[in-house]
Amino acid sequence: MNDVMVDVRSVRKSFGPLEVLRGVDLTVRAGEVTVILGPSGSGKSTLLRTINHLEKVDSGWISIDGELIGYRRAGNKLHELKERDVLKQRTHIGFVFQNFNLFPHLTVLDNLLEAPVSALGRPKKEAEATARRLLDRVGLADKADVYPRQLSGGQQQRVAIARALALEPKVLLFDEPTSALDPELVGEVLDVIKDLARTGTTMIVVTHEIGFAREVADTVVFMDDGTVVEQGPPSAVLDDPQRERTRAFLAKVL
Ligand code: ADP
Ligand code: MG
Repeated sequence: MNDVMVDVRSVRKSFGPLEVLRGVDLTVRAGEVTVILGPSGSGKSTLLRTINHLEKVDSGWISIDGELIGYRRAGNKLHELKERDVLKQRTHIGFVFQNFNLFPHLTVLDNLLEAPVSALGRPKKEAEATARRLLDRVGLADKADVYPRQLSGGQQQRVAIARALALEPKVLLFDEPTSALDPELVGEVLDVIKDLARTGTTMIVVTHEIGFAREVADTVVFMDDGTVVEQGPPSAVLDDPQRERTRAFLAKVL
């Protein structure tokens, strides 16, 4: 069995009076793909954002590769990390957003160099070689010098994936990576994610693409109302769901 890469334990998170995560547990092993399904408003994005420490948890804890996110332990006490140390942790976690979030004023190549060179001060030559290799991997080697607005949505999302890989993250988080795309562009982005899955990248993917989940996921997690209702291999959760809420959701999206 692989080592645990992402461990989420009893995580709770409220926004004012609204409790959005109500005791979430989730374990992702190294090299595995976890697909999270669930209705709008069930807390999927918030969960990804707590893993990346874009949101602080109210209680519970999250670790990546054994390291607590946002905190360090001293004896039996937890201390909040300083912003600088949080940023350092975040370099281990790649995040791909629904709306690509590329830097519009930078070329494709410079989008990939922003974090390693501008933010972390790594040598430009090495970073550029890595960036060009990653662009080749997502099929966009010839687009290094164009600007995001000159690309289709599918191409922009493939650049965003390459950018997320530039720091060699331990885990990649995807929040509905194909939801903003025209239907004919969905396949090219899913193909890139499938390729990453084949090479053992640890990933958590929030998506409504059930066919993709069936084909690629090691584990499918169904979330509703801030909790994990059901999880297991795709054949169990998708074809033989045990909980009524999972069945009702699948009946709507299948
Ligand atoms: P999902 O991604 O499953 O659609 P979200 O995690 O985006 O769900 O949202 C869960 C709930 O939390 C929703 O009711 C949403 O309106 C609310 N929510 C999310 N972020 C915030 C925020 N920053 N402030 C207040 N409410 C929020
Ligand atoms: Mg969401």
